[in-house]
Amino acid sequence: MSLRPSILDPFFAPATTLPGVGPKIAPLLDRLLGEPGRPARVMDLLFHIPNGGVAREMKGSIADAPVGEPVTLSVTVAAHRPPPPGRRAPYRILVEDETGDVVLVFFNGQKARLEKLLPLGERRYVSGKIELWDGMRQMVHPDRILDDRGIENLPAVEAIYGLTEGLSSRMVGRYMSAALERLPTLPEWQDPSWLFRNALPPMAQALALLHRPDDARALSEEALAKSAPRRRLAYDELLASQLALALVRSRMRRLPGRVNAGDGHLVERLKRALPFGLTSSQQKAVDDIRQDLVADKRMLRLLQGDVGSGKTVVGLLAMASAIEAGRQAALMAPTEILARQHFERIAPMAREAGLSIALLTGREKGAERRAILAGLADGTIQIAVGTHALFQEGVAFHDLGVAVVDEQHRFGVHQRLALGSKGQAVDILVMTATPIPRTLALTYFGDMDVSVLNEKPAGRKPIATKLISIERIDEVVGAIGRAVANGDQVYWVCPLVGESETVDLAAAEERFEELKSVFGNQVGLVHGKLAGRDKDAAMERFSKGETKILVSTTVIEVGVDVPQASVMVIEHAERFGLAQLHQLRGRIGRGSRSSTCLLVYKGPLGQTAQARLEMMRQTEDGFRIAEEDLRLRGEGEVLGTRQSGLPGFRLARVEVDGDLLAAARDDARLIVDRDPELISERGQALRVLLYLFERDSAIKLLRAG
Ligand code: ADP
Ligand code: MG
Repeated sequence: MSLRPSILDPFFAPATTLPGVGPKIAPLLDRLLGEPGRPARVMDLLFHIPNGGVAREMKGSIADAPVGEPVTLSVTVAAHRPPPPGRRAPYRILVEDETGDVVLVFFNGQKARLEKLLPLGERRYVSGKIELWDGMRQMVHPDRILDDRGIENLPAVEAIYGLTEGLSSRMVGRYMSAALERLPTLPEWQDPSWLFRNALPPMAQALALLHRPDDARALSEEALAKSAPRRRLAYDELLASQLALALVRSRMRRLPGRVNAGDGHLVERLKRALPFGLTSSQQKAVDDIRQDLVADKRMLRLLQGDVGSGKTVVGLLAMASAIEAGRQAALMAPTEILARQHFERIAPMAREAGLSIALLTGREKGAERRAILAGLADGTIQIAVGTHALFQEGVAFHDLGVAVVDEQHRFGVHQRLALGSKGQAVDILVMTATPIPRTLALTYFGDMDVSVLNEKPAGRKPIATKLISIERIDEVVGAIGRAVANGDQVYWVCPLVGESETVDLAAAEERFEELKSVFGNQVGLVHGKLAGRDKDAAMERFSKGETKILVSTTVIEVGVDVPQASVMVIEHAERFGLAQLHQLRGRIGRGSRSSTCLLVYKGPLGQTAQARLEMMRQTEDGFRIAEEDLRLRGEGEVLGTRQSGLPGFRLARVEVDGDLLAAARDDARLIVDRDPELISERGQALRVLLYLFERDSAIKLLRAG
């Protein structure tokens, strides 16, 4: 049951409720604006901001109309010339104005339809490009044919949208008009005097101005950065997220923390069982965490460390502390593969230390699942490893003390909140490999303490990175053949470009077949579309060394750890962002073998792509790479999102909205101080805001608290 105010229903209605969005268009909008398992909604469309605009083409006379450029002409229909019966000729229609005439040409034109569209003797507006054919002016398949009313309704500026194959900006514009017409009047949640001072319009007006500006220049990139309507919406979004964080924080502050560490015997026992000694920054992080845990305040700590810096073991020791204190601990990973891998790694150590541990993902079902849920509820399971399934409704812990979240940037604020609400005073450790700039850390994580792992475990050898053109793919195959003969294992990564998953997958499957024809059963394949069990099986065979070459899409990007893999081939490396290449490459160079990364590109390379690949060749330093990434692509990309913008944000852009972020944070704090339960009139409006931007999990906390 959703408690979302019904006033927001028009926003959350599926896009298919818009006129013209039928079974053919819906999947295209889903691909453009939906998420897996969540079809596109009207609000997804409304928040799809144009990335440019063109003024409606100039109207002119036929005689003056330039050839080959878009024109809109006001004409009278002079004659219909259907093809002679039985002949495969186009249907022609002669139209004219005072200055001359043009033949409109329709291939496969249907008489009845054309007679209705362009009735003899009537005035119509046609737009398209004029061509000369045998000295005659003609227009083949006009883009648009309108009557007087149609031209009235045509916007002065046509917005240009990010698209997917099969959709045009004009189509999106049409659905947008329908969506804008249905906008409900929402209560104002912003402080009116603040809006006034900053010259920001009301939300509905902001949406209309963004999608239907009077001047095409308002949609240029520079104008959008500063545009009041976009900033109004960005501020709404930022306030929603900051308010959600502030609500959680204030609740945390109201509830006392608990001591989540015992005498240290378990931690010591685990440390002794490790096959290596901790690096000094690992030890420092473990100490930081212990201090948090023994204090009776809530821990909210970010553990930042480059790929391969050894975050997992730090997380494990934090969990051990909680168990010493008689509580439970949970480790949440962003994917099933990772959750499973963590489980397989940690379980032997945990069991050795006499601890009970279970794995919970979306896949454990039926009796198995019920048994795990029962164990979590009665406390007989001390450590739970899993995906976000761990923090769904219906999962209850007996007494959760510490939650460790791996690779947090894959999670939204939602999960963060869900997680905090699973126990009395859960201490939270978030582990991330992304060197997050301060501004971003602030938005994304709120105020957290930070521990940094700034050194790699001893004994690591540098990775040699080479750039190779796809034309030399045979040499690459030869090289991995030698590597395999030498006892090395190889990751072969094929890109997911995003245009069409099916095509990308086909490319990976094709590469798999090709390599199989050379290396036979030594080759495995793993990708996101595989069923969970098949994915595990493929990973496990590779991990055990049964397969030597693992062809994959980017599913291995985050966290996977197979130390004996020492060669990585990345196909179409030019299509990846720097951060992503760095994450991928971090999968090798983990063991004692020297490692090689082959970046296979398809030339010719643009300047940025060239610079990016060159950077990869030069350094393994994640922070340097992140800085360069920021310079080359803008901050959104640092966190691996595709669009520019903040991760999890549709409208706010960190490069240009930094001031709004700070304002939103201050405003959120003020709101929570004055009206912690959001019951004032503005408070009620702010609840609507939280629901609109899907930060409403915070509202549940309100009621519970
Ligand atoms: P990440 O920080 O990328 O999550 P992991 O925790 O997966 O890194 O650790 C990478 C690898 O390094 C693992 O195989 C782990 O066992 C190993 N490792 C972690 N800490 C040390 C250490 N202090 N000395 C040697 N190896 C270590
Ligand atoms: Mg990791």
